[in-house]
Amino acid sequence: MTVMAPHKSGFINILGKPNVGKSTLMNALVGERMSIITHKPQTTRHRILGILNADHFQLVFSDTPGLISDSSYKMHNAMNKAAFSIFEDADVVLFVTEKNDQYTGKEKVIKKLRQAEVPVLLVINKTDISSSEEISAIKDFWVPLVSFHSVHCISALQKKGTEALLDTILNLTPEGPVYFPKDQISDRPERFFVSEIIREKVLFLYKDEIPYSTEVVIEAFTESVKKGAPFAHISATLYVMRRSQKQILIGRQGGAIKKLGIESRKAIEEFLGKRIHLELYVRVKEKWRDDDRMLKSFGYLH
Ligand code: GDP
Ligand code: MG
Repeated sequence: MTVMAPHKSGFINILGKPNVGKSTLMNALVGERMSIITHKPQTTRHRILGILNADHFQLVFSDTPGLISDSSYKMHNAMNKAAFSIFEDADVVLFVTEKNDQYTGKEKVIKKLRQAEVPVLLVINKTDISSSEEISAIKDFWVPLVSFHSVHCISALQKKGTEALLDTILNLTPEGPVYFPKDQISDRPERFFVSEIIREKVLFLYKDEIPYSTEVVIEAFTESVKKGAPFAHISATLYVMRRSQKQILIGRQGGAIKKLGIESRKAIEEFLGKRIHLELYVRVKEKWRDDDRMLKSFGYLH
């Protein structure tokens, strides 16, 4: 007689300041290009779920927005709320840090980590560029502060230590049902990724405050067939806060927005695996950061 292994499922939340490598870690674990990775902090404004499926388990990861102490904007408040809600619905919390990540010991997140009722794993990332002294210093700071379930030294970039981390996570994952269809890798619709791709291109193509003053909204996403092949028509609006920013986005004789359109289209076509037609519009919406309704439509408030 054969006994079937029980199915396990769990929610794993990845927590840490911007730039410590949360998105890279999630990509290493889930194996798909789920988060947009750039060198600039605060690019991940949304909670993104990545799902790792196997016959006998399903792990649902979320890459939380960074813990931002400056809450001068409502947007930041909404982001902090998202980051802190993770202690309520997780089975396992990964707290990610690295050698350049500065903490004083007085941060609110430390109190939260101490009060967590679920196992918290200390993940020391970027060990490929850290000395053993630097790694020891991180342990010396954190281990007396929080009662971690375990400590993991990894390189998310080089996928070193990530398999062992996954084994520990699986051991902590309870028996549970299949929450999402097994062929699904994210709970986010394709249009969410499309807007993230355009935002990523804005980050690469424009300087200074432009990327942080721009919000991308997908207005239309219509799928069809063209010359026997799948095709999509996508229309997106870029919201900026000032007229001068609109002019910069568009550029002289439309040169800048044209380049943005070409770069975005190429990346979206690669992501979707089909040809698209992309229309970009720029609109001025003063103070969108402080407007609850706008934030809601962008998904910052729920
Ligand atoms: P997040 O803001 O926490 O999501 O961080 P990201 O995943 O976006 O990574 C921030 C930067 O650190 C990127 O340039 C990554 O390539 C880099 N990075 C992430 N993990 C590692 C690692 O293990 N080693 C090294 N050397 N760089 C890493
Ligand atoms: Mg990230």
